[in-house]
Amino acid sequence: MRSFLHHLWTRITAVLNVFVGPTDPREQIIDALDDTLKRRYYDCYNAIVIVAEIDNFHDLRRTRNGKDIRHVLRVLEDRLKGDLLIRDVVRRLDGDQFVCVVSPLRGLVRAGLLDLTMMIQDKAAEPIPLGDEELQISLSLGCAISSPEQQEDGEELLESARVAQIEAANQGVSMIRVYSTEMKERIDARRSLLAEALRAIKTGEIHAYFQPQLCLSTNEVSGVEALARWNHKIRGVISPAEFLPILEEAGMMRQLGLAMLRDSLRALRKWDDANVHVPRVSVNMSAFELRDPNLVDIIRLELDAFDLTPDRLVIEILETVVARGADDPIIRNLHAISDVGCNIDLDDFGTGHAAITTIQNFSVNRIKIDRSFVSHVDVDESQQQMVNTILMVAKGLSIETLAEGVETTSEIQHMAKNGCGHAQGFAIARPLPPAETLTWLRDYNLPQVFAQRPRYLQ
Ligand code: C2E
Ligand code: CA
Ligand code: CA
Repeated sequence: MRSFLHHLWTRITAVLNVFVGPTDPREQIIDALDDTLKRRYYDCYNAIVIVAEIDNFHDLRRTRNGKDIRHVLRVLEDRLKGDLLIRDVVRRLDGDQFVCVVSPLRGLVRAGLLDLTMMIQDKAAEPIPLGDEELQISLSLGCAISSPEQQEDGEELLESARVAQIEAANQGVSMIRVYSTEMKERIDARRSLLAEALRAIKTGEIHAYFQPQLCLSTNEVSGVEALARWNHKIRGVISPAEFLPILEEAGMMRQLGLAMLRDSLRALRKWDDANVHVPRVSVNMSAFELRDPNLVDIIRLELDAFDLTPDRLVIEILETVVARGADDPIIRNLHAISDVGCNIDLDDFGTGHAAITTIQNFSVNRIKIDRSFVSHVDVDESQQQMVNTILMVAKGLSIETLAEGVETTSEIQHMAKNGCGHAQGFAIARPLPPAETLTWLRDYNLPQVFAQRPRYLQ
């Protein structure tokens, strides 16, 4: 019965296509483009297509219900259709994607196209009433213009505009890009790097290195921070600066986060079993992972799997994360993480805008003073003033402190003298692969008389 209905529907759409044109919006767009492309040789018209998508649409999907989203999309579609010419073809394709085939009668060239795209963005930016509030959205636009030298068809031109839209969205919000062949090469390279990175997480090619942290009052190891590294077969060690943005953009940070959590707890278990005491391991978590409603359960399960107590784990979060409102899912998750008994470190402190009161209300155990304040703190007076203010505030709030990126013994000594609790940086050790971390820890823990242990503190 189902196959009969499917067959019938295919026949009906085929007949409709012949008499009234295609009913599928994508096909309508391609038809309009093909039509313009056919005429352009004798009319000298350009075929132009614009693809628009709502910036950060996944945030909207997460925070609003289906009815609100449908309303927003409808308002946007009406606005675009209402403000463009009757001969421009406007259709909504997958989800939040709008496509416009610009009427060849406009006779647009590049300059006119820019005016048109800006007008579309302005229209979209007007507040959308939603119950008692108003929602503000923005669009990223990609455009493709037919080229006199190339024999492209409508489908290819639409794909080019999509590529330009991806490039626009990659570069920020409210961006506009016009397609070029280099763009396609760049996007193809990013796509293959993403596929490779996902495989590398699965196979363990991307894994945790560890950087030791010292307690500045006892000179003992107080923890290690797990930092992601990609041991690429051909390219060698690739730093997170290269692959994190690609994972982040593709919404794949959860996969990395879980792998790093497991690597870290596995290493801690191994060190415990080898009688090498490391009080805690710190794992970095992005805003994306911190939004996961299952995060606390995952952490609990993983701690149990490695037979470790929650106080052995530190979650590092960026200062920008706590600048959010109390009802943000991230804040709720962080309270739950702290209730379980894990520690929370505020990373890159001083670079975001977390209000002191927010930190106070919030279960932060330690702030990590950003390297930009610590660098040359032993000799630079303005650095000293900044660092002293941060240390004073932390002391007032009874929050522990760690100096990030210490590169000289003199910087460590200055931080210790002024009451900073912990330090981490190249002066102590670089991030190390797991096996080398164990060797480093063993050496460091040898009694002073046997070890090459540096004396950071007098
Ligand atoms: P971060 O969390 O602030 O990590 C500290 C960064 O400073 C690391 O860079 C570390 O190698 C570097 N560093 C440590 N000591 C020194 C020093 O003395 N001098 C200098 N110049 N640099 C020092 P890395 O490993 O390249 O990581 C960069 C950022 O990538 C990290 O900054 C963190 O935000 C992010 N990241 C790394 N691994 C992960 C991960 O597994 N998950 C998430 N979400 N983010 C990660
Ligand atoms: Ca960190
Ligand atoms: Ca940091």
